[in-house]
Amino acid sequence: MKYAIGVDIGGTKTAIAAVDERGVIVSQSVIPTNLQIRPQAMIAEIQQEISRVIEESGVLIEEIAGIGIGAPGPLDSKNGLISCPPNLPAWVDIPVRELIGRSFSVPVLLENDANAAALAEKWIGAAVENENFIYITVSTGIGAGIIAEGKLLKGLKGNAGDIGHMVIDPSFGECVCGQWGCLESIASGTAIAKRASAIIGREVTAKDVFRFYKERDPDITGYMEDVFNVLGVASVSMINTFDPEKIVFGGGVSKFGEPMFDSIRQYVRRYALNPTGRKTEITAAKLGQNAGVIGAAALCFQNG
Ligand code: ADP
Ligand code: ZN
Repeated sequence: MKYAIGVDIGGTKTAIAAVDERGVIVSQSVIPTNLQIRPQAMIAEIQQEISRVIEESGVLIEEIAGIGIGAPGPLDSKNGLISCPPNLPAWVDIPVRELIGRSFSVPVLLENDANAAALAEKWIGAAVENENFIYITVSTGIGAGIIAEGKLLKGLKGNAGDIGHMVIDPSFGECVCGQWGCLESIASGTAIAKRASAIIGREVTAKDVFRFYKERDPDITGYMEDVFNVLGVASVSMINTFDPEKIVFGGGVSKFGEPMFDSIRQYVRRYALNPTGRKTEITAAKLGQNAGVIGAAALCFQNG
């Protein structure tokens, strides 16, 4: 049996797992992504954690096909660089592949996090049967992985699918990228926390908002319906552009679950342009919160 190490570096947390060639996680760990320390120091923490996860798994280094890293874009996947992600503000031109590779004598690969998660959902998740589908992660930021005609659409540097900075409604104000009203500045976990805090009048997280939503707080349910509609708008744009069979949602915010999927479905049923597009399946990532880390590991099995 061969194994791979998946590392999913997010704006909130970093997940690390030893995964076998069937996609089964044999050991895993989640550490907070500390944005207060230098990227090099955070990478040192990640290296330590990788060593710990390998040790705990009992897997021998000879059995490890490689280490796959999923990270937020913009990045340069061919050259293994994290370029300048808004959600990892200090990570400018960080040669993450080389830095991680220094500690381990195995190949290291880098891919955009949403692209990696899309590969995982295609491999053993919600889209095994689908040749055309889109994975959307709604987490600290928002990103998408596009599988078109059975293949991951990468673009020039591996940044295809960065839908978080598609403008939805400029009246929502300025985004970290300088544009006004980007999808991510309205519907990401970060945006939900910020806007809900203003509504409620004290600091809350997206996770708190989820709780208030379940308790049917009227201000929050109304506000979240708007957010879900915005995710519907983004879904319709993606459906009209790529004609997918399915959209799979993952990331921390997708824990809102069925109410979120239902709202998106209703929007899509009404506004997708072509009649088949209106029936596009809207579903949760089957691998749940593990899609990113399994997809990162999958990079090593796919690319040899
Ligand atoms: P990362 O962005 O590091 O990959 P996640 O995918 O877990 O991490 O996304 C983190 C975001 O998801 C945070 O904004 C967090 O508040 C939000 N989140 C986590 N759990 C929930 C939940 N149950 N309901 C709504 N939002 C959540
Ligand atoms: Zn933006």
